[in-house]
Amino acid sequence: MAAAVLAAAFLFAALPLPSQSLALPPDSSGPTARGAFHIHTNRSDGSGSPDAVAAAAARAGLNFIIVTDHGDGTRKPDAPQYRAGVLVIDAVELSTEAGHYIAIGLAQAPYPLRGEARDVIADVRRLGGFGVVAHPDSSKPSLRWRDWDADFDAMEWLNADTEWRDERRGLLARAFVHYPFRPSETLASLLDRPDATLARWDALTERRPVVALAGADAHARAGWMDDDANGYRGWFLKIPSYEASFRTFAMRVTLDRPLGTDATSDARLVIDALRRGAVYTTVDAIASPATLEFSADSRTLTARTNATSGGSIVLRKDGRIMAQQPLPALTIQAPGEGTYRVEVYLDAAQGNPPIPWIVSNPIYRRSDGWGSPSPVVLQPPTVTRGMQGGPWHTEKDDGSTAQVRQDNYPTGSVELTFHLAAGYRAGQYTALGIGVGKALADRRHLAFAARASRPMRISVQARQPQSGDRWQRSIYLDSGSRDVIVSFDEMTPVGSGPPFDPALADTLLFVVDTTNTAPGTEGSFTIENLRVER
Ligand SMILES: [Zn+2]
Ligand SMILES: [Zn+2]
Repeated sequence: MAAAVLAAAFLFAALPLPSQSLALPPDSSGPTARGAFHIHTNRSDGSGSPDAVAAAAARAGLNFIIVTDHGDGTRKPDAPQYRAGVLVIDAVELSTEAGHYIAIGLAQAPYPLRGEARDVIADVRRLGGFGVVAHPDSSKPSLRWRDWDADFDAMEWLNADTEWRDERRGLLARAFVHYPFRPSETLASLLDRPDATLARWDALTERRPVVALAGADAHARAGWMDDDANGYRGWFLKIPSYEASFRTFAMRVTLDRPLGTDATSDARLVIDALRRGAVYTTVDAIASPATLEFSADSRTLTARTNATSGGSIVLRKDGRIMAQQPLPALTIQAPGEGTYRVEVYLDAAQGNPPIPWIVSNPIYRRSDGWGSPSPVVLQPPTVTRGMQGGPWHTEKDDGSTAQVRQDNYPTGSVELTFHLAAGYRAGQYTALGIGVGKALADRRHLAFAARASRPMRISVQARQPQSGDRWQRSIYLDSGSRDVIVSFDEMTPVGSGPPFDPALADTLLFVVDTTNTAPGTEGSFTIENLRVER
């Protein structure tokens, strides 16, 4: 009996502190909205229906949620709608070869969005979406982001699934005991400042603008299971609950007008704020509500929170700590050129290193033109060798069909008409092929004009005869004819393999396969004026 009392006393003594209640500043400027991002429902591997998730968000006091079920972008996204008074924005978590990429505000994709990250990022942008790298530093290698040169719009600086995977078993066991008493505070006690991820973000924002968001990665399902679109288990505990996740941390967007007009225009407002980086993360289980005003002009830079004591504001310039001042405000004079952001710390924060209570997005004080990609200047080729004459051939799997047609030999356009076999994705492919002998040796790139019967992404491949190894660069085509250049420097191995050596390849292939084409699809594409250049 005495032992049980002692154990209980110990348990409660170790409970995380309750979230501190704060007052909002009377002169808080401009409308804001609180929301959560990166949420799975029972349409993929989450446990709750969209209605149940929205109801949990309403109980947690959120104004919007961004649902991100796994997919390939071909499902028509639900129109934004208010459920239980919460704006529900339907987004999608895509799987690329470099990791998971969440697309918000994406139009329905005309073909599956898969393959190399650079191509998925380009497709998301073409389809009007805003893309976020998910759980970039997951402790599970297959979930980690692997292409930091890619031109993504945003990344998660915090991901709850990553944080909880990281923790030692003992802490997790203690959290399991504490969770029923103080759910969100317990979850917050498992958050550590993700130093490596923040350092990556700082390195990126010295070169170009990159937005950082906090991903709830909420599934309401225990077990830290594999985060992929299949293999859900038949049983689960609904822990941590959506409501507890939403009460742990959230994001606050700064808006031009309050929400409440209609769901479609409200969703546009929220997504525009995210794109602009007019958003900060708040760990509400430490103290709430949490507000930050952060602004700069040529004379001063100011950050102010509604917490008046018991912590500090840290200003980082180009990733390095530049100033640190006690709450509630930080001001510096004459901020020079640079990328500025703040982290706010409360003494009550746990974690090793402690998790910031608020993390802003950067203010970029930069000269005009900074951050935009330098235009690619192509020198006119000094050597051009036409290859349009072929001879052309087709390659395909057993169930698919492919026909090649060339109207005027040797210079006329060549067309491949294909029908990929229906059914599950099982390696269906069709290809238009051409033997090139040693013609690629000592050349820099392929050039041609191309168009297709419908929007599609095909893979331009070079194949080595002895090993069968292939290298590829995928290209986007639609009904408008476009000039395409495929630089040999940009070709990557199909599967794994050494870098591309043009001297070793003897066949070029224009491939339609299930990476970016759904089984059962019919269509055609046309290649004109194929040449190899230096
Ligand atoms: Zn994921
Ligand atoms: Zn996810």
